[in-house]
Amino acid sequence: MLEKIKLNLFKLKSKNDLESIYRFFKKSTRKWFDKNQNPRKEFFHVRGCLLCKSKSSQEVYKIDGFTYHECLSCMSIYTKPHLREVVLDNLYSDGTYQVYQDKLVKKGKKIRKEILEERKYLQIKQFLSKKTPKLLDIGCGSGTFLDICKQNGWHVEGVDPSPTVKQTVFENYSIKVHQGDFNQMKFNKSFDVITLWGVLEHVADPIAMMKRVKASLKRNGMVIFEVPSANCFISEYLRKYNFSPTRYIESGRHNIFFSIEAIREISKNLELKIEYIETNGLDVQTILMKEFDNKITDKILNMQDVLNDLLLGDHYRVFLRN
Ligand SMILES: [Zn+2]
Repeated sequence: MLEKIKLNLFKLKSKNDLESIYRFFKKSTRKWFDKNQNPRKEFFHVRGCLLCKSKSSQEVYKIDGFTYHECLSCMSIYTKPHLREVVLDNLYSDGTYQVYQDKLVKKGKKIRKEILEERKYLQIKQFLSKKTPKLLDIGCGSGTFLDICKQNGWHVEGVDPSPTVKQTVFENYSIKVHQGDFNQMKFNKSFDVITLWGVLEHVADPIAMMKRVKASLKRNGMVIFEVPSANCFISEYLRKYNFSPTRYIESGRHNIFFSIEAIREISKNLELKIEYIETNGLDVQTILMKEFDNKITDKILNMQDVLNDLLLGDHYRVFLRN
């Protein structure tokens, strides 16, 4: 397996940018709550676990007005009550989320592309026999991952709810992006690889999306997704010391944190074989954010390596085969 990247978070996202984006989203979520900071019914509703549908849960933490519950059936962690689907849809198509793209993703674009996304490409390549596979990237954002694959001869297309993304990805890389809700799209072909980098935790029904993904996948094709983990070190830390990490939780955007049990259940129900799982976390840096500025030492990065070796990093990367 490919070596992990020792990533200094602050080289990718400056502390000031992380904090200003946190304040921006916090401000934009105010309208969802009443004067007493209680969730307003027109924006929220109560549903069970987004992954296994169980209704039994226990509260684990409260952050920025959102209450997080642990599902007692699959052990995933989710917001309860949930934001309504229409609220989520607007968030990604009305330009609010574009601010995130502009502020954070664009600035770290070079490192993101040359280091993080190059590794994603090399990693996926190991699981494929075809030299020029067909790839669909759902939630393609800036399009840099698609471009890396395209430069290596892959046939690539993207999906994104934002009209801005469709336009800029075509202008920058001449790559076709289907704009809209993936669950409503019909494709007249199937794909060798479908990727979802940080997508399933944002949508109202991740299982419905995975079913559609499976339907668009070739026999022996691969689906790769990355999602925040419910089993990670930072989640354990939050149970004990309630605070608001400027990443990972992303209140109002991350609706579900996947447990390893839920991932196994999803693959079993969809008849997709788990080929490989790793975690890529920034738990230690996120927790120590206030104290650490740019003086992150190798020792801190090595601590994260140990967490990842134990599958306790804050994001799961999952490779499934059809
Ligand atoms: Zn569950």
